[in-house]
Formats: sequence, C-alpha cells, structure tokens
Amino acid sequence: MSHRSKYYEEINAEAEALFRELTELPSNYRVIFVQGGASTQFEAVPLNLLSGSGKADYIATGNFASKAYSEAQKYGDIKLAATSKEANYTYIPDTTRASFRSDADYVHITTNNTIFGTRYTAATLPDTGSVPIVADMSSNIVSERMDFSKYGVVYAGAQKNIAPGGLTIVVVRDDLASKSLKICPTMLKWETQIKENSLYNTPPAFCVYVAMLVFRWLKLHGGVGTMQKVNEHKARILYDAIDNSNFYTNKIKPRDRSLMNIPFITPSEELDAKFVKEASATGLVTLKGHRLVGGMRASIYNAMPVEGVQKLIEFMKQFELANR
Ligand code: PMP
Repeated sequence: MSHRSKYYEEINAEAEALFRELTELPSNYRVIFVQGGASTQFEAVPLNLLSGSGKADYIATGNFASKAYSEAQKYGDIKLAATSKEANYTYIPDTTRASFRSDADYVHITTNNTIFGTRYTAATLPDTGSVPIVADMSSNIVSERMDFSKYGVVYAGAQKNIAPGGLTIVVVRDDLASKSLKICPTMLKWETQIKENSLYNTPPAFCVYVAMLVFRWLKLHGGVGTMQKVNEHKARILYDAIDNSNFYTNKIKPRDRSLMNIPFITPSEELDAKFVKEASATGLVTLKGHRLVGGMRASIYNAMPVEGVQKLIEFMKQFELANR
C-alpha cells in the first residue's frame, strides 16, 4: 500500500482525529506522526524553538530528562532549573516561577520518568508564567487525562501505550510551529511535517495503522478517562502490596509515584535476582529493574490488564513467605 494512496491517507487522518478526540486536544494544536523516536526530539525541540532569546530551562528528573538537557546544550543557552539527581531521582523537585528565566524560549519537563518511576501531576506541574512548557510524555501519554492546553509542545515515542516502536507523535501549538533555528534540518523541522500532513517523506505507516486501531480500542473502552481509572487501580493495588509488606520497598516520594512504572526492591540484591528469576519461570517476565536503579520494575502500561498486576501481587506474597 503506497503511503501516497487514499487508503493510507484515510488511516493517517483517522489516527489523528482519534488522537485529538481522546486527548481532548484544543483546535490550535497540530499533530504530526514522525520517525526517529523521542530521542530525535531531544534535538528537534531546541532546533525548532530557540530562535527567540536562545535560552531554555530544563528540569532533570531522570535519565531521559537529563539526556534531553544535554542534547540541547549544543544549540543555545541551556540552564538546569531543577533536578532530583542528588536523591537518585526519587522525587519531582518543587519549583516556583522564579526557578525559570522569564525570557526563556521554553521550559522542558518529562511527565513520567520511565526508569525511576516518578510522574508529574496537575498539582506539581511547574508554573512557568508565559514561557511554554515542552513535555516528553513518552511513557504516560494516553494513560491518564492531561490538559494539553498547559503545554506548548508535547512529544512521545509511541512504543509504550500506543503502537510498536517506530512512531513518534509530536503535538505543537500553532504559535510555536515556525520558530526554528536556521540550522534546523528540514527533516527535523516540525513545520515541514505539519505542512505536508506528516507525509513529507515516508511515514512509519504500519505503526500509524496500529495506533489507529489502538485509539479505536481506547475509544470503545471509554477513552482516556476510563483508562486512567484502570491505571490508578492497577497502581494502587501494587503500591499497597509493597507498602503493606515489611519485605518490599518502593523509594519514591508518595506524592510523585508513577502510575506506569513501579520500581521495588527486596531486602537484598541476591533476593532481587532470585525474585526476577523465579517470577520469569512463572511467566511474569521483564521485571528486572533498569541497571541504573537495580531491583525490580513493573511497567504496567495501558496494555497490562488488572489480572496481570494481580498475578504479580500473588507471586510477591508467595515469594515473601518463602524467603523472608
Ligand atoms: N523519553 C522517555 C520518557 C522514555 O521512556 C524513552 C524511552 N524509554 C525515551 C525518551 C527515548 O525514546 P526513544 O527510544 O523513542 O528515542
């Protein structure tokens, strides 16, 4: 199927329309489907936005947030406004409007920190005044309702909640779509893809098709609001299981705990390794924590049913009884 055919154009259009509907996206935002992953947007963001003062402020709340910050250094006057690095990213740092330069072109945040298991909520979202917030939503897009009007730009690798790896969704407020630096490569310029309806070059067509199917499924099952309730339930039963035991620990500040990624440890590294091995043998796979954190991490994205989390909790109880 040619991506220039009317068949693909229908897929592209339906995927976008459903995304807009599911996210309740205001009409003054454009949506593009591109390749390159969220990591390419670490570069695209400064290249597309730094033509004002050339300044941008970043909040480093984890591995990917820090990568975004360091990539941006190449393109302007980039400042670290806040970080929780000193505490191994176990919380979201508080900021005030004074934390940010009032003439910055943007402030960058990561709404969910995949490896460390923290997230921003409406209550902790920074007050940046008139400076637009740019958000990497790779690991919690469409998992809970978000007020997109609070953001200037949102980008997300689709591979967690939306589609197979290969698709990146970028949402750009109209007034921010033509502020690119002269050196911005044509392929990274959001304006290029906006003008061409994401068809400037070959789109990640199969991923867009699957995204369309996932969006249909989400809509059929009550949309993002319903998904949020399911995700809150899944996260609550797992955090409760951890908090109610003297065996498992989650080190994240309760206010900032992620709904998507839940890291936890047992009393020893040996037991952590044993847990991962034995869990895997029962079909509970990919629970090993990221090497930067160790221990375990349950990534319970939209596709994980409540039953999957219940199975994990049952296993955790049995493992505790056998090993405490
Ligand atoms: N940001 C976040 C929050 C992520 O979780 C990831 C990937 N796990 C990335 C960026 C990098 O995404 P990609 O692999 O699509 O470049």
